[in-house]
Amino acid sequence: MTQVTDTSPGSGSLAIEVRDRFYIGGTWAEATSGELINVYEAGTGEIIAEVAEASEQDIDSAVKAAAEAFSGWSATPPLDRARFLEAIAAGVSERTEELARTISREVGTPIRHSRAIQVGNPLHLISDAAQVAVSYQFQERIGNALVLLEPAGVVAAITPWNYPLQQVAAKVAPALAAGCTVVVKASEVAPLTAFLLAEIAERAGLPAGVLNILTGSGPTAGEGLVSHPLVDRISFTGSTRAGRLISQRAAESLTPVTMELGGKSASVLLKDADFEKAAKFAVYNAFLNSGQTCTALSRLVVPQDRQERVLEVAVATAEKLRLGDPLDESIRLGPLASQAQLERVRGYIRRGIEEGARLAIGGAESPPGLERGYFVEATVFADVRPDMTIAQEEIFGPVLSVIPYRDEAEALEIANGTRYGLAAAVWSGDQEHALEFARRLRAGTVEVNGGAFNLSAPFGGVKQSGHGREFGRYGLEEFLVPKSVQL
Ligand code: NAD
Repeated sequence: MTQVTDTSPGSGSLAIEVRDRFYIGGTWAEATSGELINVYEAGTGEIIAEVAEASEQDIDSAVKAAAEAFSGWSATPPLDRARFLEAIAAGVSERTEELARTISREVGTPIRHSRAIQVGNPLHLISDAAQVAVSYQFQERIGNALVLLEPAGVVAAITPWNYPLQQVAAKVAPALAAGCTVVVKASEVAPLTAFLLAEIAERAGLPAGVLNILTGSGPTAGEGLVSHPLVDRISFTGSTRAGRLISQRAAESLTPVTMELGGKSASVLLKDADFEKAAKFAVYNAFLNSGQTCTALSRLVVPQDRQERVLEVAVATAEKLRLGDPLDESIRLGPLASQAQLERVRGYIRRGIEEGARLAIGGAESPPGLERGYFVEATVFADVRPDMTIAQEEIFGPVLSVIPYRDEAEALEIANGTRYGLAAAVWSGDQEHALEFARRLRAGTVEVNGGAFNLSAPFGGVKQSGHGREFGRYGLEEFLVPKSVQL
């Protein structure tokens, strides 16, 4: 890494970080393309770093390094693999503040959430993968067969920018625990913590080639990686659009894929719900990380005759979320991650107004005093019809759509009525009734009465939210292949 002085207009001559080397085969190899990608600070719109664009040659070196390391790593006992993961977790823990600040700058997450979630979650996932590696039964008997659960090989991991460290950890930790070796292509929008993770892995003494990390854009580096003939498994998290393209590529070589894609998740308030609690919860959930959370409950499905009451609470709660500099400890709502996100989210807000939804708070205009950076106000729409664009498409911004329903059958139809199925929530005064409703929701994760997100339980989607599961034992099993040895 080098520090250079950026003298471009508007830069304020701040030092910017240049990452022109990739972690490949246990060394920091110079990137060969000579091309750099700008990384912007979400709160100011200024360039804070430049990272190299991986060339075909860099990708080839990384995949070959992972392939060479595979025989040694797959033969390393799970207990030893777990020890390396524990050492990596310790390294992440030590560098929490640096990681959190980096994410607040490149993604815009308020610093308190960065520490607790953006760094806290990956820490949990890495430690959990270590524990799973130790307790997992990597073989079983079925009659005369000894079934060996063997590592799948070289994993290509492609990750998005919204929870940059968590997405990398959710793939790397279970893959390493399983005995696979990995090449990560981190998001070009928020790539900096991937480099920090590589430094941590290097310091933890992870054998050369077991983990390789590079950056680059999707259509070049990403496609190059998923098309490489030595890749045995692809684990992708990102948009449904890119997931479809990667699946097409993978189909050519029949490489198995895990897809964690977008969502348009609903929170359903049944007639006997605690409306006040549920509405507050819905707002905190929908606006976490400025709505740039794949599981964001961005649709709030409420009984028609309770809409105004719910709206009152939702608006009052949204008003209290202080919007501003994500590095300020008192801020609860930060900017969006990029200019592209800003334009996209504002476009959806305008579309909601055009299609006749009632704007209860927020809007598409620049919040006063926050013209620099990618800020959008917390926005709540009421009287949203299920067929409106803002009720169907993933906005990935601080926009909550309140959708009224007449009866429970209609509530279920609305909740299940999108092409996505990542997460959902249901609220009812009767826990059993809520559970019954949860069974009928088509989603990979359902929260009942605000049940906490569980980072050890299987996570993933149905329908166009993807397939395959991450986290805990299920996450490990994505990287294992059973072999039947007949005795
Ligand atoms: P994106 O699909 O644009 O990019 C994700 C990653 O894929 C990036 O690293 C990108 O470079 C790469 N990529 C893009 N096109 C590619 C291609 N043709 N071939 C190979 N790689 C390609 O998504 P994003 O904007 O970074 O992230 C936001 C999306 O991610 C949202 O839709 C969100 O819902 C989804 N997401 C899903 C989950 C989940 O677990 N289900 C978690 C977080 C984010």
